[in-house]
Amino acid sequence: MPGKIINLMSDTVTHPTQEMRKAMYEAEVGDDVQKADPTVNKLQKLAAEMMGMEDALFVPSGTMGNLIAMLCHCPAGREVLLETDSHINKYEVGGIARVAGLMPHPIKGKLGILDPADVRAAIRKENVHFPALGLLCIENTHNVGGGTVYPLEYLAEYRKIADEHGIKVHMDGARVFNAAVRQQVDVKEIVKHADSVMFCLAKGLSAPVGSMLCGKGEFIAEAVRARKMLGGGMRQAGVLAAAGIVSLEQSIDRLADDHQTARQLAEGLSSINGISVDIEGVQTNLVYFKISGGKDAFAVRGELKEKYGILCEARNAEVIRMVTHRHIGSGDVGRVLECVGKVMR
Ligand SMILES: *Cc1c(COP(=O)(O)O)cnc(C)c1O
Repeated sequence: MPGKIINLMSDTVTHPTQEMRKAMYEAEVGDDVQKADPTVNKLQKLAAEMMGMEDALFVPSGTMGNLIAMLCHCPAGREVLLETDSHINKYEVGGIARVAGLMPHPIKGKLGILDPADVRAAIRKENVHFPALGLLCIENTHNVGGGTVYPLEYLAEYRKIADEHGIKVHMDGARVFNAAVRQQVDVKEIVKHADSVMFCLAKGLSAPVGSMLCGKGEFIAEAVRARKMLGGGMRQAGVLAAAGIVSLEQSIDRLADDHQTARQLAEGLSSINGISVDIEGVQTNLVYFKISGGKDAFAVRGELKEKYGILCEARNAEVIRMVTHRHIGSGDVGRVLECVGKVMR
């Protein structure tokens, strides 16, 4: 029987810290639909400052933040250039098409990273048969790519491409602080090439709920309307925003620990028979690995859960994902490696 549960399903499983609980308890609140919640206002100001952008909006989820960006950056009927395995293309219930009325134009990247030359090549000449170009989306870090980080010079290149074609750039930066920590740069250096960025407070940053959408003042003014339309206008949301403020003030530097445990995990896994890991792809806190040698990833996942209380995600019959976060220490990684070794034997 499993004792302690080790949950590697996602960094979304992190619980709020004691400091967050205290800040939530003490938060000053008001009706945020009237823009009268001082704690939400403070979070939005802080987020905008950290991103070097004019304004920011607190939204219930990353999915809603991305959808709002789709709705506000370009009119319906346009096409959106994005990576094939991006979250917006694959894991947001098709909101891009169904709600925003936009046409995804997927481009395949290497470990999720789009080559600027491939983006250029995907842009078609004006023709009556084609939808007009609407937007370019970049996912940084790239989730399915393995938590991979975009080179800064690529981001500068996308800016150029977008300007040449008169379109905007939206960054799905759900884990953009993981990229900043990995690259050891101020996050402003990463997002300065984008017109907007969405990032999550509720993943590695440990807040219970919420994401931020940041951009120009006029864009955020439109975004407020879109959020209300989608049903995301919240009232005394200061109790949630209070935790978000603590996230931004206290949770960023420690992401380096998650990268360290992910590396330890990836290196350990790669020495187990029947498992292969693309170590180059393990750049932040996500570890994807392949199972071969007759075992099925779903069976491995099931055994880890039933016998050892280790939770992870099987993406398909071959691939398992494990995510490190605040509740996973180096000792937990040791135990995971030992148990995976037993399951694979
Ligand atoms: C988690 C995630 C999101 C948003 O997810 P929500 O669960 O809606 O907050 C968006 N993009 C990427 C790459 C993600 O990993």
